[in-house]
Amino acid sequence: ENYSKEDILRFAEEANVRYVRLQFTDLLGVIKNVEIPVDQLGKALDNKIMFDGSSIEGFVRIEESDMYLVPDRSTWLVFPWGHELGKVARLICDIHLPDGSPFPGDPRAVLKRVVQQAKDLGFDSFNVGPEPEFFLFKLDSEGKPTAEVNDEGGYFDWAPLDLGENCRRDITLTLESMGFEIEASHHEVAPGQHEIDFQYADAIETADNIATFRLVVKTVARQYGLHATFMPKPVYGINGSGMHCHMSLFKKGGNAFYDAKDEMGLSETARAFLAGILNHAMGFTAVTNPLVNSYKRLVPGFEAPCYVAWSLKNRSPLVRIPAARGMSTRIEVRSPDPSANPYLGIAAMLASGLDGIKNKTPLPTPTNRNIYIMTAEEKAQAGIWNLPENLGAAIDALVGDEVVREALGEHVFHHFVEAKRMEWDIYRTQISQWESDQYLSLY
Ligand code: ADP
Ligand code: MG
Ligand code: MG
Ligand code: MG
Ligand code: MG
Repeated sequence: ENYSKEDILRFAEEANVRYVRLQFTDLLGVIKNVEIPVDQLGKALDNKIMFDGSSIEGFVRIEESDMYLVPDRSTWLVFPWGHELGKVARLICDIHLPDGSPFPGDPRAVLKRVVQQAKDLGFDSFNVGPEPEFFLFKLDSEGKPTAEVNDEGGYFDWAPLDLGENCRRDITLTLESMGFEIEASHHEVAPGQHEIDFQYADAIETADNIATFRLVVKTVARQYGLHATFMPKPVYGINGSGMHCHMSLFKKGGNAFYDAKDEMGLSETARAFLAGILNHAMGFTAVTNPLVNSYKRLVPGFEAPCYVAWSLKNRSPLVRIPAARGMSTRIEVRSPDPSANPYLGIAAMLASGLDGIKNKTPLPTPTNRNIYIMTAEEKAQAGIWNLPENLGAAIDALVGDEVVREALGEHVFHHFVEAKRMEWDIYRTQISQWESDQYLSLY
């Protein structure tokens, strides 16, 4: 909703709000906030709250470190937890420079810019529906997270196998009380692993929702003495956590991906968008799968994609087209994981799809075979590439992709690549337990 300043001040009064968190996301997708007492709320709504951006990851620009928080009034929300004596609310903020222009290093600004490109091409909205997965782990006696799961459940199991069930229900109830439309919530394949799906919305709202979702899941899990993690592959040998993203473009109130006359029910727009996604998949993987650990999930045998291919039925390729048509016509990109910065990940995928539309990129034929049993030659013949196998390869692919680079903008691109190269370099020079076990006595 389009709330006015007066609306927000009234809501704060009515809900007995004592503190307001001004929330934003850094380059690496970590939620940051500045908490203000409610008597500062008027000043905040006049965009007068300043902070020092030079200490925020990826914001560094010493010569221009003064930045302003510009609250998006439509994101007003009172947290359901907190004290009888006073509640805490939040507003998601854009970041502006002292001259009033959007700060180019603000991930939300990056997404807004790419969404505007979709609007310029005549689309009303870019819709994204995410399926975030996470693990619930036990805490040790000092309250530190362990990698010990808290149940032995499997896909769609019921209690008592699923000990995380009460915690998960509390998470969904909390999210619902905050306005989320939960579509499904279930135990996932691995022990201790869960998935909660919420309704699609336009790209910016969904990215905001993913940030809020991660905060709520972690907060409620703590109340149960558990640690929730969105680390993509926390335990060797079992499934990792992904965040499939369902996507569509709406135009003039209809779904621009749907064409009743087409044999597959897919419009030219849907085909070209999908072709763009496939074309830039190597390039955007560093953004949708940003951790060293992300690449331990993208391996054969654990339901995660490893190849650039699409299918109408099969669930193994990078992109699946769910069977629903009409307004539900969409593509599902299955590689992203929940450690991604949601603003940057969605921006990179949208720019890729729009590039396909602008260039009328032809769509390769679908792969309805099991790719995992195809030989290297068969894959090469079918034009099926491997996704980058590690963060280093993913960064190289990103650097070579002009479309994704332009979507991120020079500021974000530069700082992202620099931070990720450093992460990769530190990691690749470590000596792991596996190496010691394998080599120390043998050589
Ligand atoms: P899966 O079959 O992969 O488990 P789910 O049914 O769990 O998929 O998830 C479906 C997701 O797709 C939900 O977030 C839903 O809101 C979203 N969705 C439905 N229609 C659209 C659409 N037109 N555009 C984008 N997302 C959509
Ligand atoms: Mg699902
Ligand atoms: Mg599912
Ligand atoms: Mg799942
Ligand atoms: Mg899915």
